Amino acid sequence: MSVALLTAITAGKGPWLAQSLCKWTHAYLQNQDILPTNPYGTWSVSVLADEDLAAELHLHLQLKGKYITAHDIIWYISGPSIKECFGFERIISLSMATQWLKIMEYQWEKEPMGQYVNGHERNDVVAYHQNTMLPFWDGILPTMWRWNKEGIEVDTKRPGWQTVVWTHNESTFYAHDHWKHHWVHSKETAKPIQKGEGASLMVSDFCSADYGWLHSPEGEEACILFKPEIYDQVSVAAKLATKLYPHDNHVFAFDNATTHTKCPEDALSVMKMPKKMSPKGKNFLCEVTRCDGSRKPVLDSSGNVVKDKMQMHNGPLPDGSPQCVYFTPNHQYASQFKGMAVILKENGVDMDGVKLKAQCGKGRFKCWTNIVPPGTNPCCCQKAMFDQPNFTNQKSCIEELLESLGHGCTFYTHFHCKCNFIESNWGYEKCVYQEYPKSSGEDQLKANVESALASIPLVSMQRFANHSLWFMDAYQKGLNAAEAAWANKKYHGHQVLPESLMMDMDK
Ligand SMILES: [Zn+2]
Repeated sequence: MSVALLTAITAGKGPWLAQSLCKWTHAYLQNQDILPTNPYGTWSVSVLADEDLAAELHLHLQLKGKYITAHDIIWYISGPSIKECFGFERIISLSMATQWLKIMEYQWEKEPMGQYVNGHERNDVVAYHQNTMLPFWDGILPTMWRWNKEGIEVDTKRPGWQTVVWTHNESTFYAHDHWKHHWVHSKETAKPIQKGEGASLMVSDFCSADYGWLHSPEGEEACILFKPEIYDQVSVAAKLATKLYPHDNHVFAFDNATTHTKCPEDALSVMKMPKKMSPKGKNFLCEVTRCDGSRKPVLDSSGNVVKDKMQMHNGPLPDGSPQCVYFTPNHQYASQFKGMAVILKENGVDMDGVKLKAQCGKGRFKCWTNIVPPGTNPCCCQKAMFDQPNFTNQKSCIEELLESLGHGCTFYTHFHCKCNFIESNWGYEKCVYQEYPKSSGEDQLKANVESALASIPLVSMQRFANHSLWFMDAYQKGLNAAEAAWANKKYHGHQVLPESLMMDMDK
């Protein structure tokens, strides 16, 4: 396997090619009369399991900018260089291209023209990426270990301690997910193919480019098979990291899924918030699930979850001091909700002479992604509140937990999968897994999955992590997604972007 991987790397390709090389070699050794055929001939969706092709398509679509169509995929695939590189013999149908877009997580949005939208161009996504994620990585980068393609440490001018980033890895494996294309001897009779995906196994674990999986030599691990309770799992992982590597700084990185970014139930929320102070006897409170000692919800006699009404917790004012949205106990309206008008004033937002409605329209808070240009008033009080640091800087449950244990926490930006090296890890795991015989029972499924996870060499993880850091470097240098995609093609093989970048871009 390592020889195949080396060959693949030399060819400028990844683990997918390495897997294919192994498969072709084994098949050829068994029967020299049969030469490999083009697996794309049957046009199944699994073609996208080829990570090089998937990466190629992502890059191409990124180059297209905000709006893309299924035709973009068809035109790209039918180009002579792509046809030759991936061995395509015919073009794909419009419905197949649409299916590919969905698999690659492009969203169909109701923009004026009704087109697929590159999610990374969304206002809220761009703001998070530029103002939160990139500055965070820029801050920790000088204290991180850096590895070259061969897994040798580069740039050793770091302070005495280093930051290790543990990225959360969550993936689902299916019992019937294995290679469907293989060499069949002419005398072998065809076996019926099992329908469906079969039993599934969800895996959730942490890995870093410096140490690999978060496992101790004695077998202690934070890995969870089946349904993970993320909060408990993070708690185990954080303690294990401290125990195993006490001299490092630890940061845990997650994708931006709502299960990960969930805030405590008593966190500040503008939903349904009134503009005026709550009248006596009718306070504005939030509902919080009552939990027992082991963080399990308490149920009443008819099996419903018991909820308690309580005050929302404090948020930080622009100067960092805490702000309570309820009047203090010695105030004449002690414990009453202050109302958005008062809270905004305390935040330094001048509300005098500005007539702002409480919220835009009825029902859900829809205007949160609006951009308010400097010097203009927001559309409503809710939007004005939402843009205050009390609301934007709220910590999620996971973040609060990790900080209490002395570790850092970060979330990758939505739709910027290039920044998260776990995406490439998955590709590798899945390729290895698909090589195994079909999992017949749950035990075998578990054994196959565990063995697939353990098969990723540390040097591959380092290579994947470098690729992600390359993209972050490009974004940090001010390139947008389309420009980063262009630069990745132009400077393929460069560890960092060259100084001449801006001049090349003007050409
Ligand atoms: Zn509004």
